Amino acid sequence: MLKENIRQLIKQNLKVFFVTIALIGIATLLFYVSDIKCIVKYTIGIPCPGCGLTRAWLSFLKMDFKAAFGWHPLFWIVPFVVIIGVFLKGRIFKDNHSNRMFWIILVAIVVGVYSIRMIRLFPDHPPMDYNKQSFLYKWVISKTL
Ligand SMILES: [Zn+2]
Repeated sequence: MLKENIRQLIKQNLKVFFVTIALIGIATLLFYVSDIKCIVKYTIGIPCPGCGLTRAWLSFLKMDFKAAFGWHPLFWIVPFVVIIGVFLKGRIFKDNHSNRMFWIILVAIVVGVYSIRMIRLFPDHPPMDYNKQSFLYKWVISKTL
């Protein structure tokens, strides 16, 4: 019964899963090949919670796990979030309270890790370095200093 449900769930959502992975891949490739890399860092100069994910995955694919965790300690969480989002429609638990708690805890972990990375690495260490080529810096901050 459960096996049949899982099989049906995979069958129904496989196309959505691959389209999602393809879109994430294309967006990442476009940002990585262009000079933008991260839209947040490109516009305001400050790294976002996802900064370092691409380099973490590239390191992971080269089997350099230490570097992968150095670029982003939560890089491994991305496929699980995509799978939960696509196949389970964002619902990992049946009851609403547990489900809500799961997402709150996940967001808290992401924000916590981001805060620690900002405290330890900002503004000098990539990927948490400040972008002085950003619009905000070029058009506002550099003109007021
Ligand atoms: Zn970013």
